[in-house]
Amino acid sequence: MVHLMSFEKCVRCGSCIKFCPLFTAREDEKFTPRAKTYILQVWDLLEDDEELAKEFRRLVFQCTMCGRCEEVCSSDVDLLHIYHEQRSKALKTAPQEFEYLEALKKSLAESKNIYGLDQEDRAVYWIDELIDEIPDIEDRVYEPGKTAEVVVFLGCLMSFRSSQMDVVRSLFRTLERIGTDYLVLGADEFCCGHPLYLAGDDEGAELLRSHNREVMQAAQAKTVITGCPGCLIQLKNYHNLEGIEVLHDTQYFDRELGRPPTLDDSEEFAYHDPCELHRIMGVKTEPRSVMRKVGVNFREMDLSCCGGGGLVRMTDPDLSDKIAEVRRQKEHLGDTTVVTCCPSCREQFLSVGIETRDIVEMIDEAYQKEEE
Ligand code: SF4
Ligand code: SF4
Repeated sequence: MVHLMSFEKCVRCGSCIKFCPLFTAREDEKFTPRAKTYILQVWDLLEDDEELAKEFRRLVFQCTMCGRCEEVCSSDVDLLHIYHEQRSKALKTAPQEFEYLEALKKSLAESKNIYGLDQEDRAVYWIDELIDEIPDIEDRVYEPGKTAEVVVFLGCLMSFRSSQMDVVRSLFRTLERIGTDYLVLGADEFCCGHPLYLAGDDEGAELLRSHNREVMQAAQAKTVITGCPGCLIQLKNYHNLEGIEVLHDTQYFDRELGRPPTLDDSEEFAYHDPCELHRIMGVKTEPRSVMRKVGVNFREMDLSCCGGGGLVRMTDPDLSDKIAEVRRQKEHLGDTTVVTCCPSCREQFLSVGIETRDIVEMIDEAYQKEEE
């Protein structure tokens, strides 16, 4: 029996092409999964063509890693695994072509967050914002010796971006309302490693993960929750948190909210399902269930990518914006607000002027209306 490498299974049927957001935005076959697998199939014939090799290394980073191609592939080609492997190989073969990743790697190696900011600031700006509303919020920040049932892993975006402040506020307010015994890791939370994983640097990612693992074990967490699907991938699949349950915040709230108050609002939202959450982690029902429980009036969007994943926002911001813009037009968004549950998707939509809300904000709003 002949065992085929995964890329050899591609029969070039082209079923994946029209689903690829890169192709939709650029209308150029070279960006497609079919083109990438074809190049790998004939690699032995092209190996000496250094220009082509360089272009291929560039192309493997021109992908949002949304997984749509893998989902629709007629031959079960393990496309995401191929891209990950090829990114890793490209980085080792020609590091000089990826200098734009050096700043990110340096920030993560030295500061342990993607912004290169002081780790002590991880729990500063939201504490200042929340201390009047939640006087005990400082006690919720982990220090050695403190333990809790639930650890909240905020992730770099929610820890540092002011554009995420309303989501952070809603998250903590909701946890307080339902009486969760929780801690947030603050300066002891290192980046989950997802950006390095997406860049093919597994060793760098593991250095960050091992620290997080130790802290979560020391906090004696039974459950870790995060609002970021990228962090969820890393925490659940790569952190080896034996005996600790890892949940997206919508999964946690779907289970723990009971019967929350409902919004009495006729505004229609468009629901964007984050690729990493529904396609990679298989979390599909809970975000919708939570929205129904709190009475969000939403319509479904096509299961396409926002354009911000796979480091494309960093490697090619114009392309990233183009994907979001194409999405806006195809979905006839107009003034409709997009509701979602991923800080990266929110940042991406906001960058092209599309209003967004996180599902956690909708929960909080339902409680607020009841309390008024
Ligand atoms: S993962 Fe998404 S962006 Fe990348 S090739 Fe597949 S469909 Fe295109
Ligand atoms: S759907 Fe699968 S088999 Fe068909 S061209 Fe795309 S990668 Fe190849």
